Amino acid sequence: MKISNFNVYLTGLIHKKSFKKQFIFAKSELKDNGLKDPLNEEIFKKASGLIHRYNDRVVLTVTNKCFAYCRFCFRKNNWQEFDGFDLEATLSYLKANKQIREILISGGDPFTLADRGLEKIIATLRGLETIEIIRIGTRVLTSNPKRISIDTVKMIKRYTPIWIAAHINHPDEITKEFELASGLLIDNGIPIVSQTVLLKGINDDHRVLKELFCRLVKLRIKPYYLFGCDQAKGNEHFRVPIQKALDIMSKLRGKISGLCMPVYAFDLPNGGGKVVIESQNILERKKNVYRIKNFEGGEFEYRDV
Ligand code: SF4
Repeated sequence: MKISNFNVYLTGLIHKKSFKKQFIFAKSELKDNGLKDPLNEEIFKKASGLIHRYNDRVVLTVTNKCFAYCRFCFRKNNWQEFDGFDLEATLSYLKANKQIREILISGGDPFTLADRGLEKIIATLRGLETIEIIRIGTRVLTSNPKRISIDTVKMIKRYTPIWIAAHINHPDEITKEFELASGLLIDNGIPIVSQTVLLKGINDDHRVLKELFCRLVKLRIKPYYLFGCDQAKGNEHFRVPIQKALDIMSKLRGKISGLCMPVYAFDLPNGGGKVVIESQNILERKKNVYRIKNFEGGEFEYRDV
């Protein structure tokens, strides 16, 4: 990714070490044998853009465009291969599967769409009685916060409850603009939770994470997930060993309140789904290969760094 490909906001911050490593290509990306589709989303596709992995919720990917293009994105295969989304087919599927009560609008970044396009999607989904919760997964607050205008907030507010799941990895990403945009959303009744990817050399330090999570809570944002970096192609140099992650979590637990604590989780390969990593989920370890129990009681092999 050339610096010139970033939006103005991100270009202004890219000189910082914590940003550079996340967004600028590194040669080490070429050296690993990571997976093209680490979550195996392809097998859970029910229509263009619609992924149904868990019983009561689905993901709808509405764009391959992003403000950030993180080098460790688990959907980086989508940057080139996205085949669009089908709102009509999504609607039919949701009507036929009434147990689905939650939908995550994702991408890419849904806020790369204009408000009118985003509203069409939200309004269509909100029209279904069975859909209780809409979530928007986004990096907009850290990579283009000025995109969140008063008009955007008013539009979202019309379809409440809508939750924002904000991707943020380092305290440096909490800027004045971040504070203004997140404050505008929260003041208007739009709650925000955070999702952080644990990244080697960027935030794999309990002091950095402590600062991040405490500052988020001060801004009324609940730290939700600390994710292990997915085994996507080119991600190996970002991955943090499970044991180190567990050590970081236990150091944090002794230092910050439960409100500031996210849960540590990652996605198992071969479609095993998301698993919260606690010692009882780890069945066996042989060198760097773990046998892990998922939420359905299935056993999956996970290759650590
Ligand atoms: S913000 Fe999310 S969708 Fe965009 S590149 Fe980063 S990980 Fe991928």
